[in-house]
Amino acid sequence: MLPENPFKAEGKWYKGNLHTHTNNSDGAWPPDRVVDDYINNGYDFIFITDHSKVTDVSNLSKKGFLALYGAELGGGRSELGQGYHLVALNLKETISAKDCPNAQAVIDLVRSKGGEVIVAHPYWSGLTINDLIHLERHLGIEVFNTTCYNSIGKGHSTIHWDDLLARKKQTWGFAVDDTHQHFNEHRPIDICSAWIMAKLPELTEVEVMKAIKAGRFYASNGPEILDISIEDGKIKVSTSKVKVINFIVNISAGESFTATGNKLLTGAEYRIRGKEGYVRVECFDVNGRTAWSNTVIFAE
Ligand SMILES: [Zn+2]
Ligand SMILES: [Zn+2]
Repeated sequence: MLPENPFKAEGKWYKGNLHTHTNNSDGAWPPDRVVDDYINNGYDFIFITDHSKVTDVSNLSKKGFLALYGAELGGGRSELGQGYHLVALNLKETISAKDCPNAQAVIDLVRSKGGEVIVAHPYWSGLTINDLIHLERHLGIEVFNTTCYNSIGKGHSTIHWDDLLARKKQTWGFAVDDTHQHFNEHRPIDICSAWIMAKLPELTEVEVMKAIKAGRFYASNGPEILDISIEDGKIKVSTSKVKVINFIVNISAGESFTATGNKLLTGAEYRIRGKEGYVRVECFDVNGRTAWSNTVIFAE
């Protein structure tokens, strides 16, 4: 199954963070201050996902901005004895830890209550392909997590993503902050740094959830992806000014385009060879910040 193509969908782009802590768990700031910071940085929606607790967001939405329900839940032990962290979106009641014996049970319980689940920060959690490949009915994984990157250098989980896609496990890729707002003089604060851009007919809780479920978004911590289309046997991409555009494909194929000299790229074309199990697009700006599309081609 392919994601819905956000570049062809009707509507407007909306910017959102799907993984947010407040001082209702181990974040430093109260929910209203967190919301204000996201509004002031051009975001349109956030999910507040405190640990093992649903924060009341009923008074936090403002004109043109949605604060949405969620929580981050444990989900048993991984192959290497680490813990799963699972981000539950649109979860409106707290689930007790005793009801979270393993990751699949959490996914199914959250979905039975109308929510959806993303596997948080696989690299930070020490998850392996064996921990991820058997999970069903979740939306995907965090392929970038700001606080995991800033704090211990384990923010990127794109290899986990490719490992899943190469095994024909369709998985959406999300970029999130996982903000905790703790000041530390040797790293930047972990807020307003990574997001998804979702294409919505209107900014409502229902439409945000529909787009996230359908994969109608791309993820970024910097660049913009302006368009992706398939024409004449080619995948054509246009972006904001970037240094590198990669077409990531199963096994040792795909293609990378790098700007040379002082020039930057604003697009690239990839000729489809026909044996790609999947193709996804990513681009890096001069500071190494990245945008990631969901799969453009995906063979079942
Ligand atoms: Zn976590
Ligand atoms: Zn978290």
